Amino acid sequence: MRKQIAAANWKMNLTIQQGETLVNELMEATGELNETQATVFAVPFPYLVNVKNILAGKSHVFVAAQNCYNKVSGAFTGEVSVEILKSIGTDYVIVGHSERREYFNESNQVLAEKIDLCIEYGLKPIFCCGEALEVREAGTQNSFVESQIKESLFHLTAEQLTGFVIAYEPIWAIGTGKTATSAQAQEIHAYIRSVLAQGYGNEVAESISILYGGSVKAANAKEIFSQPDVDGGLVGGASLMATEFAAIIRSLK
Ligand code: PEP
Repeated sequence: MRKQIAAANWKMNLTIQQGETLVNELMEATGELNETQATVFAVPFPYLVNVKNILAGKSHVFVAAQNCYNKVSGAFTGEVSVEILKSIGTDYVIVGHSERREYFNESNQVLAEKIDLCIEYGLKPIFCCGEALEVREAGTQNSFVESQIKESLFHLTAEQLTGFVIAYEPIWAIGTGKTATSAQAQEIHAYIRSVLAQGYGNEVAESISILYGGSVKAANAKEIFSQPDVDGGLVGGASLMATEFAAIIRSLK
């Protein structure tokens, strides 16, 4: 059965003290997770080791980097490689968040390279896709997201895609307070799964966790996560508040 995941994306927020307090406050909620559920904390690079240490010995709770570079090592001042991330015990890496695509011009091709490196080094990518408002208004969101997925993931083998994690995040819903309705989320998640099934067969498609991201909060998580093709969420703003994120974790199927 594919994993149901509540992933927190802290982005460039919180001091280390605030972050450690937040993770500690969430221990009770994460302690209730079962075998088919997980919580992931995508924290700023300098906090990865601290958060990993807090989570030592805990089940179903993981740390993620919010990005990685598309080269293994070398003279790339200021960048962080998958090798470095692996060496400090990072579990997951968010690849292709819309803020990376928009502000750092990350293309589907560069993201494909990052995905390959994550897999080579044993890190689990959380691959983000999603359309801008103009695309949604033009009604072409399905083909737009399909291209993002095909261009960054369809060179992978079935084995590499089995158990993979994708986050569908409509840009118009990220940090805007505007959430896709649960019906809108289900519709495009089902479409994404059908694209994966066409390329790799039903068994692989059914093994892939497709998270929804875009203004998920305690008040709407249960309804969105209850959709059959929604396997949890990637959560920005609401993941910075312990009571909110605890309720989101408890909304997992
Ligand atoms: C995100 O950062 O991926 C996100 C979905 O943010 P928010 O929950 O704040 O919309």
